[in-house]
Amino acid sequence: MPELFVAGEWRSAAEGGTRDLVDPADGQVFRTVDEASAVDAEAAVLAARRCFDDGRWPATPVAERAALLRRTADLLQRDREETAHTETIDTGKTLAESRTDVDDVTAVFRYYAEQVLVEVDRTVDVGRPEVVSRVVHVPVGVCTLIAPWNYPLLQMSWKVAPALAAGNTVVLKPSEVTPLTTVHLVRLLAEAGVPDGAVNLVLGGGAAVGPVLTSHPAVDLVSFTGGLATGRGILRSAADTVKRVTVELGGKNPNIVFADVDLDTAVDVVLTGVFLHSGQVCSSGTRLIVEDSIADALVAGVAARAPRIRFGSGLTEGVESGPLVSAAHREKVEAYVAIGLAEGAQLVTGGKRPDDPALQRGFFFEPTVFDHCDRSMRIVREENFGPILTVERFTTEAEAVELGNDTEYGLAGAVQTADVERGERVAAALRHGTVWINDFGPYVPQAEWGGMRMSGNGRELGPAGLAEYRETKHVWRNTAPAAAGWFKG
Ligand code: NAD
Repeated sequence: MPELFVAGEWRSAAEGGTRDLVDPADGQVFRTVDEASAVDAEAAVLAARRCFDDGRWPATPVAERAALLRRTADLLQRDREETAHTETIDTGKTLAESRTDVDDVTAVFRYYAEQVLVEVDRTVDVGRPEVVSRVVHVPVGVCTLIAPWNYPLLQMSWKVAPALAAGNTVVLKPSEVTPLTTVHLVRLLAEAGVPDGAVNLVLGGGAAVGPVLTSHPAVDLVSFTGGLATGRGILRSAADTVKRVTVELGGKNPNIVFADVDLDTAVDVVLTGVFLHSGQVCSSGTRLIVEDSIADALVAGVAARAPRIRFGSGLTEGVESGPLVSAAHREKVEAYVAIGLAEGAQLVTGGKRPDDPALQRGFFFEPTVFDHCDRSMRIVREENFGPILTVERFTTEAEAVELGNDTEYGLAGAVQTADVERGERVAAALRHGTVWINDFGPYVPQAEWGGMRMSGNGRELGPAGLAEYRETKHVWRNTAPAAAGWFKG
């Protein structure tokens, strides 16, 4: 069955393009999918435009739009195992992680089905009894939604659910590396009854279809999650037509640990924060900033447990960590290990591919810890998106905060301490979009997610994640029209 979806019809690429998908756990091609070109992207944008302009989706009553989201949530749960299996083969992540993703995505659809019903329109007292003045919320229009490969279904759903809830029509473009669960999501939206043209799907590389999706005059909004360099290019591409643009970019996220913590718990929090999904997480706790007096003990604890993480195909029961997503990505991570060594960081564990003969065909990489780093090093400053922990030390709270904020990014950060007041003080001082106190990683659909500074602009999830897809409009109705009297002639 073809994988592009335009105006309610599944079709192959207009110019016949295809792409092989590789299973990162064994390096083998497991599927070939259609690959769109600019021609398909243009057709998808125009289909979304028609469906928006003729009112088929934006004029659908909000309760019906909410019901469609709820049906989609039910279908996601019906297909939970199949979807999780697909995500695991595509990305390499473990089945447990993929199942969690499907459940989280389901929760996001359910959340926006409720949230869109919360009344936000308001009347304004303009001081004239004959005037009815109200502020209403309307959909933005045609939205192109561009997602990365690390959480394919999840990142796309954070966009699709609020965009559709608000009455927009959409064109989805998943990462060319991991498109399959987005294809399935579109099938489920079609099964749930979304009108033809409200949801369109193009698969393909950013260079081929990106310019159409981000600069076409028929597109009103671009929502992008991915790397900093790509995000900058998208902001430029969308500038001429003054689109609304949301960019969720990378992170270089500090995890600050004070000496008063329970050491074993802190080791576990650090380990989970940085090595989950082999570090391929935008909010990964890649920068450990630890109080000097416990630094040696904490690093020793992490270094003792990291090599015990069980690698393998994400489909195998008991496996705790999968491979990196591609050969090219592993090469990038390896290049950063070389950079760290050249900069004088001290390699404590990892830094190489695993020796296990059973893992040689996949793109596996050992959890890696570099001690005695400082903030001038590239290994500390640049996102490498791999399983690499860098360790910096501090002696005072002020120094810890300064280090935690000394990054061009501002996505997420954390502080571990037994002192409640200090935890709150440090959390208040950290300039990151999410701050965890005595934890690392959790999020909920009700709470906004997004970055400060180079980690992006705009927010996903929570009420603000819906507001991104709404315009406000002021409607002034004079119930007793009369001459204004400004001009006397
Ligand atoms: P990427 O920037 O390479 O690609 C992201 C998406 O953009 C893909 O679908 C890609 O095809 C598309 N794209 C590439 N060039 C384009 C262009 N010129 N026009 C339009 N689209 C284009 O990122 P990636 O490697 O897929 O993902 C990893 C990055 O995503 C990391 O930097 C990570 O931090 C970031 N990320 C951020 C968040 C967040 O919430 N802030 C979440 C997940 C991932």
